[in-house]
Amino acid sequence: MLLEEERKHVIEIALQISDMKLVPLTYGNYSLRDPESGLVCVTPSGMPYHTLHPSDIVVVDIDGSVVDGERRPSIETPLHTGIYRRRDDVLGIVHTHSTFCTAWACRDIDGMPCTTSEMAGLVGGKVKIADFCLPGSQELADATAEAIGNDKACLMGNHGAICADVSIDDALKDAIILEEGAKVSFYAFQMGDVNILADQIAKLMQQDTTEHYGQVK
Ligand code: 13P
Ligand code: ZN
Repeated sequence: MLLEEERKHVIEIALQISDMKLVPLTYGNYSLRDPESGLVCVTPSGMPYHTLHPSDIVVVDIDGSVVDGERRPSIETPLHTGIYRRRDDVLGIVHTHSTFCTAWACRDIDGMPCTTSEMAGLVGGKVKIADFCLPGSQELADATAEAIGNDKACLMGNHGAICADVSIDDALKDAIILEEGAKVSFYAFQMGDVNILADQIAKLMQQDTTEHYGQVK
């Protein structure tokens, strides 16, 4: 089977996301790009995660044409391939409908405020929110690629969140950080005045996280 290990890896990520309840039912979608072939392994549309077999993961090319697999690929395949086409650095994408991110994405505001230090480390400022567009549409793919730009994460208006990083494992970590930050912000705003991190400080924290957090790679 083409890219069997990579397809298994996508399923592991999907199961973790489902177990962490970052999506309801079959929503959300996940992909990785194989750096050698440039091919993308993406989850199938609307299949329960716990039933997935490696052959259910669809292999598509960078334009979204199916190269291997019998299943219909995620309706958001253009969203994934659109980001891969624009971003050479991205090898993994995780799109969730996690509760607190989605709640923030339903607000009529210019970006989710940056509050926690982890969130600042991830995005370096407020998290952009792409305008609402129909799920699965090219408009949604374009609006989201525009909103995420060169960042690691953005929200999708009235829909969810998306994280793009150097691996699908990193994109999963980003999705967890984003959801935790969105949750903390929700509670902080219930408690009273909130000290939103200024863009300048958030940028410094992002730089510091990139340069100093964790072990030397
Ligand atoms: P798929 O099941 O087709 O991936 O769609 C889920 C989703 O999140 C649509 O935005
Ligand atoms: Zn979605």
